Amino acid sequence: MYFGVDYYPEHWPEERWETDAQMMQAAHFNVVRIAEFAWAKLEPAEGHFDFDWLDRAIEVLNRHGLKVIIGTPTATPPKWLIDKHPDILPRDPDGHVRGFGSRCHYCATNEAYHWYTDIIVGQLARRYGQHPGVIGWQIDNEFGCHSTVRCYCDSCQRAFRRWLQRKYGTLDVLNKTWGTIFWSQTYTDWDQVIIPRKTVAEHNPSLLLDFYRFASDMKVQYQRRQIEILRRHTTNQFITHNLMGLFPEIDYYELGADLDFVSWDNYPRLLGSPDRARLAMTHDLIRSIRRRNFWVMEEQSGPSGWGIVQSTPRPGEVRLWTYQAVSRGADGIVYFRWRTCRFGTEQFWHGVINHDGLPRRRYEEVQRTGSELKRLAPLLEGTVVKNEVAFLYPYDQLWALDIQPNNPRLNYTDVVKEYYTCLHERNIGVDFVNHDDDLSQYKLLIAPLVYMVYPDLAARLARFVQDGGVLITTFRSGVKDWNNIATDKPLPGELAYLLGIEISDYDSFYGDKVGVRLELNGELSEGSADTWCDVITPQSAKRLAAYTSEYYSHEAAVTENRVGKGRAIYIGTRLDSNLRSKLIDYALLEAGVAKGLLAHSGIEVAIREKDSMKLIFLINHTDQKQTAALPGRYSSLLSNRSIAGEIELEPYGVEVLKEAELF
Ligand SMILES: [Zn+2]
Repeated sequence: MYFGVDYYPEHWPEERWETDAQMMQAAHFNVVRIAEFAWAKLEPAEGHFDFDWLDRAIEVLNRHGLKVIIGTPTATPPKWLIDKHPDILPRDPDGHVRGFGSRCHYCATNEAYHWYTDIIVGQLARRYGQHPGVIGWQIDNEFGCHSTVRCYCDSCQRAFRRWLQRKYGTLDVLNKTWGTIFWSQTYTDWDQVIIPRKTVAEHNPSLLLDFYRFASDMKVQYQRRQIEILRRHTTNQFITHNLMGLFPEIDYYELGADLDFVSWDNYPRLLGSPDRARLAMTHDLIRSIRRRNFWVMEEQSGPSGWGIVQSTPRPGEVRLWTYQAVSRGADGIVYFRWRTCRFGTEQFWHGVINHDGLPRRRYEEVQRTGSELKRLAPLLEGTVVKNEVAFLYPYDQLWALDIQPNNPRLNYTDVVKEYYTCLHERNIGVDFVNHDDDLSQYKLLIAPLVYMVYPDLAARLARFVQDGGVLITTFRSGVKDWNNIATDKPLPGELAYLLGIEISDYDSFYGDKVGVRLELNGELSEGSADTWCDVITPQSAKRLAAYTSEYYSHEAAVTENRVGKGRAIYIGTRLDSNLRSKLIDYALLEAGVAKGLLAHSGIEVAIREKDSMKLIFLINHTDQKQTAALPGRYSSLLSNRSIAGEIELEPYGVEVLKEAELF
């Protein structure tokens, strides 16, 4: 278990480093991330390198038991480099340059930038690749931050054409695939193919989808370039990158594939009051990217903010967020940042200690957490999170619905989160899977909005159901092929056979509510829906719900089709939370998914396990005491006592339990 902090020694007088390292050691830290924005100090002029200060900083940290992760500094190209090669700067969709003066001011396809990236990363790798006090590397920082995935410069225009040539081979195939005959967009020379800069009206949706894929791929390739250099010069050092949670513009499955493990940056109070289901969902997605444990490389430790200061973590919250991350598979927690910086854009992005450098409440909370995790570490070693439920969550799907949301109220991730929340309330853990991942370990697959489908995806979903799985999918599924072209088959297109239905009509719904009556095992529930209404003609499927208003009153709204040993449920509308909940309970039961501990108790539960040992994390996200009745006898690993029956958690309280050994 690694536990530490992000540190910027270059921001503080060198005389202070020793004090900082002592305080970090006293907080039980064993790792520090440094240098990810320090290019101008590492290479103050072209070809003039200064690593002495970094050597000394690493030496001070190592002497206090702190291992080091070095961030490659490529998110902040220095002024001398930009002045020499101004074409490194990215351009926005209007074609305007996004200039020097903040960060992330580079285009990932720029060849000059590749040249200078190779040099600085190569220098760092050669100097620290065998250093016993350096355990790993972080590539760049938060790829895509500040809308920098999609660049519209001339270099990207050329790179996009090359990327398309490799994908399609001939212009004829590209023209047919994109349907460029529409609005006379036919291309007769590769040099005519555009990058989607600002235009009079909306671009071709197939071009846009390819551009989104291309832009994501350019970040993946830029990261790979750095990884290849590091792999050549390093031994026994890991390589990771700090992802941005639910950030939608990079295919994190692709970006994560080249890394030893993924990390992410978690700021629960950045968007107002923390949303515990969203936080849990993000941890689960991040763990699913590589299907292995992960790190939080920046964990909020104080109020964040640039010009505006966000709210302060409540006493206990930093500890709670730490445990929530660990409970869902984090093997490393690194707080952002050590001491709040006195200058620059982030001077109100607070760290563990304030500008004054004195240990106060948040330091003490982190110190307590560190002491607890040190005790838990031997038990956590080798434990993983195992689940029976998965969500299908391909980025292609997200992008296609971002390009054409179908209804103004429709957002892919929001719909996924509505279903995720049902599982979260029941304390049932979930994984996320990509469109080509193996599904065989799961009993229930929830696949909202399978908007684009290709034949092999349909076949694998069918096989999952035939083999006994329960599939839930929703409206706007099977609508398009993988190139973002509408199917010419009756909806739900490639999924029609599996779902046993035909969508005979649909209504992009702008009213307040449409009535829905659900009937499950003879029990009737009245409710409502909105956003979209498919009018379903069941074929081999049976109806589970019907509309009770609108011109499609009495028509089927939800169906279930038995195929092989499993069943496929189609939800043709956006149900209210009560009806959605009932359907989820029905599907969980049919799929034989184990019940979650303390479901609906208000206490979040997550489990890490190894062999027959289970570590059970209980988390109270509220500022009120919470009590719940435990079904067995447990030992508390935080308080070293035996617990049976009722358990009480303090406001923002946490408990870690192990099933008591029976004698
Ligand atoms: Zn560019």
